[in-house]
Amino acid sequence: MATRWIFGNQLCHELPIIKEADQEDVFLMIEAQSRSMWQSYHKQKLVLIFSAMRHFAAELEDKGFHVDYREADSFEDAWKEHVKEFNPDQVYYTVHTDYRMTQAMKKWEKSLSGIDVEVLDARPLFLLSAEEIKSELKGDGPWKMDPFYRRMRKRFDILTEDGDPVGGKWSFDQENRKSAKEDITFAKARSFRPDDITKQVMEKVEEQFADNPGELKPFRWPVTRKEALQALNQFMKERLETFGTYQDAMLEGNDFMSHSLLSSSINIGLLTPMEVVRKAEEAYHSGEVPINSAEGFIRQMIGWREYMRGIYLKKMPEYRDTNTFDHQRDLPTFFWDAKTDMNCMHEAIRPVVEHGYNHHIQRLMVIGNYATLFGLAPQQTSDWFNEMYIDAHDWVVLPNVLGMALYADGGLLSTKPYIASGKYINKMSNYCSSCKYNVNHQTEEDACPFNSLYWHFLDRHAEQLGNNHRLGLVYKQWQKGDPDKKKEILEKGERVLKGDA
Ligand code: FAD
Ligand code: SF4
Repeated sequence: MATRWIFGNQLCHELPIIKEADQEDVFLMIEAQSRSMWQSYHKQKLVLIFSAMRHFAAELEDKGFHVDYREADSFEDAWKEHVKEFNPDQVYYTVHTDYRMTQAMKKWEKSLSGIDVEVLDARPLFLLSAEEIKSELKGDGPWKMDPFYRRMRKRFDILTEDGDPVGGKWSFDQENRKSAKEDITFAKARSFRPDDITKQVMEKVEEQFADNPGELKPFRWPVTRKEALQALNQFMKERLETFGTYQDAMLEGNDFMSHSLLSSSINIGLLTPMEVVRKAEEAYHSGEVPINSAEGFIRQMIGWREYMRGIYLKKMPEYRDTNTFDHQRDLPTFFWDAKTDMNCMHEAIRPVVEHGYNHHIQRLMVIGNYATLFGLAPQQTSDWFNEMYIDAHDWVVLPNVLGMALYADGGLLSTKPYIASGKYINKMSNYCSSCKYNVNHQTEEDACPFNSLYWHFLDRHAEQLGNNHRLGLVYKQWQKGDPDKKKEILEKGERVLKGDA
């Protein structure tokens, strides 16, 4: 008989492993304690994966399949028990993207005798196969996202007319940088009440993973395809319209703005990226949403998402150790409880503790900015992102954290570090007005820490970054500055780094 082994981030009925199954095949699903302890994951992340797996197993059974669902200490233990009971001569599984899992499967395969293994394609979890994406990104890098994104638009005929972009240009990013006024209201994102299965899983997590970070309740995430489709439809109807314009905006107390909250579902297979993209395209063609929203959203899905996966597949395993600036500082404890006087950091980390979620600009321009300017160790930072987010998977975390947010890879996927002083955060949010620090001060006692650290960072890394053409004007401004003032800024930066200011 054949075993079809389904993993917790491959819960998609459209995968070949399910579409090609015979009724005599047995599906194997394992909730492995040891895998859940690879890192100290946010409690809600564990609930999401276990609950979605249990629901998916029930759906397979409804289709008439036999499912061998096991709670075990490790994959190895469960596998041995499965072999004892079913004695398979053939195993199918879907190819993994995460490096550590790929290596673990290779090791497991070597340990088998008399059992054939076939590794199946992961589409439609991604638009391109692993081979296709690796050949799209030619050579050893650096690469650029924009040309890749245009090729994807043409290849899949998305928002194009005779090969040209609808609306006359490929990107409307310039229109998507508006800050939000406090009196603007955004349609509330739909949340999902835990059912009995989810409640059981929550009890298990509370009992067995009591010391893991993050709050367990309220748990709001879709755990089935049905729920994920409801979230998708509500986003398309009520929230995509304002996604574009306010894509980079932040407001105190508004944790979701117009962001889709779909990544946790897409990354485990409850939704496929292409169906999400086609829905956004339809919403534009039917006149429900403007082009800047549809295009902006689609760029994230077929551009950034696929691109990041490609970089990961091309560059692992050496990518995980990358540390261009040799940053070594430990993460401060407020990364786990959000207790800090920096209001922007508090407002960015609080939703992570509460929901395992941030929207992109908080991840990049608040937390990532902090990590870069304060010189936090990249691997500790990527571990934190891997552990704390509901949508975190190694393939998407490492390029986003080490590449995009920290520039720890020296510019493999972006042309300059995403860094900013408090001025940018003040422009894009209302955080500064209720902060203990003064965003307009640079060296005074109450000065916003980002203001001196921005220049401190540029100054201390001038050798590596001074010739970066995109930072030319900034370095010119710094070089022309009054020497006494510069000294004062650098001294303030030193004190901030030491925690004395
Ligand atoms: P929306 O803002 O509604 O965007 C729509 C979709 O586009 C997302 O659901 C996601 O599937 C995709 N997307 C957008 N940007 C990216 C990107 N840069 N890379 C990959 N996919 C993207 N995304 C994750 O899925 N998991 C992570 O662990 C993760 N960690 C990140 C860490 C950092 C430091 C940064 C800068 C970005 C990270 N991202 C990650 C990318 C992005 O921030 C999230 O995908 C997005 O915030 C998820 O929320 P949403 O579904 O509401 O997204
Ligand atoms: Fe953040 Fe500085 Fe604004 Fe405070 S003043 S919220 S620390 S940017």
